[in-house]
Amino acid sequence: MKKKLISMSLLAVVFLFSGCGNNAKKVTNDAPISRSNFYLGTYCKVTIYDKSDESILDKAFNRIEEFDKMLSINKENTEVDNINDKSGIEKVKVNDDIFKLIDKSLNYSKLTGGAFDTSIGPIVKLWNIGLDSARVPSKEEVTKALPLVGYKNVELNANEKTVYLKEKGMALDFGAIAKGYIADEVVEVLKDNGVKKAIVDLGGNIYALGSNKEDKPWKIGIQDPDLERNNIIGYMYSSNKSVVTSGIYERFFEKDGVKYHHILSPFNGYPFNNEIMGVTIVSDLSIDGDALSTSTFSLGLNEGIKFINSIPNVDAIFITKDHKIYLTDGIRNNFSLTNEKYKLAN
Ligand code: FAD
Ligand code: MG
Repeated sequence: MKKKLISMSLLAVVFLFSGCGNNAKKVTNDAPISRSNFYLGTYCKVTIYDKSDESILDKAFNRIEEFDKMLSINKENTEVDNINDKSGIEKVKVNDDIFKLIDKSLNYSKLTGGAFDTSIGPIVKLWNIGLDSARVPSKEEVTKALPLVGYKNVELNANEKTVYLKEKGMALDFGAIAKGYIADEVVEVLKDNGVKKAIVDLGGNIYALGSNKEDKPWKIGIQDPDLERNNIIGYMYSSNKSVVTSGIYERFFEKDGVKYHHILSPFNGYPFNNEIMGVTIVSDLSIDGDALSTSTFSLGLNEGIKFINSIPNVDAIFITKDHKIYLTDGIRNNFSLTNEKYKLAN
């Protein structure tokens, strides 16, 4: 039987503000409509600023719920479960959403030389980080699970719309990319219903649609990873952009004085150990932002900066463990550091 989920991931890493003054202040518009619900292991919040029709929120949350039922590896009988159960046995027909997620994931696996890998499932399940059952697996368990991780053994057939995991025991886990895709899909639902000003926040996976009530770009604060809540390190302005953060400071557990976070190396089966505390990606599509935040984290600081600078229309804010901030070229003029604990380093 699958483990029941008890703990929750609160990845609210980005705060939203309106106005252009230096004092960050919370959005206070006339009558925005807003709903927050627990899905995808986190709080999902949608706020609409230019319509008062609650049925649009119903539609947005129906879409989120649909994905929760389709993609979770923590629930029984999801479509992802079925793909994993059929590993080493047979190929499985998949819907367009899952096809796209796998296709994108394989692309990012190739771009990162396998550091990003949604076939990381067997390793994720060993650690269970974020759940009450989190534990440090034995070396033997890790050694046994590692050969089951490998994007090259994920066979995607575009004509048949099928996927086949070639080794028995392989398992896909869309934890690093699904929230981004779902955010994009929710934005589509909003746009289809005439919404032009909204914030979609899937546990810190933010999409800022249009502009704020004053027709100015949204002001988005980046959370201080030291988790002094409501404290930010700085802010930027965004319109029609996704802002997604991956970090080591929200989903982790501690054992014998060692912190184990949830971004795991497909090469050795342990949490990546590098200088990054958190990395925020600003991109047009949230599926890319989500995949890239995890990918960039897995590449480390120097490779990560080069990687993001090589991708058009994507930028990144890196926060390192020694409280330094590194920016990619395109965001230099759109990021204001407001927290004196941190120093701009490049
Ligand atoms: P990201 O950096 O975007 O992703 C990290 C996650 O990706 C890890 O948690 C792991 O799942 C996976 N991963 C780790 N290493 C790699 C790697 N090298 N390459 C690729 N992927 C990697 N959480 C709960 O606690 N309870 C739930 O019931 C629950 N249900 C969920 C249902 C769905 C459909 C989804 C998509 C997520 C759910 N989650 C749940 C949350 C999930 O387990 C992760 O915590 C979350 O997706 C991580 O997002 P992030 O933005 O924090 O981190
Ligand atoms: Mg991610």
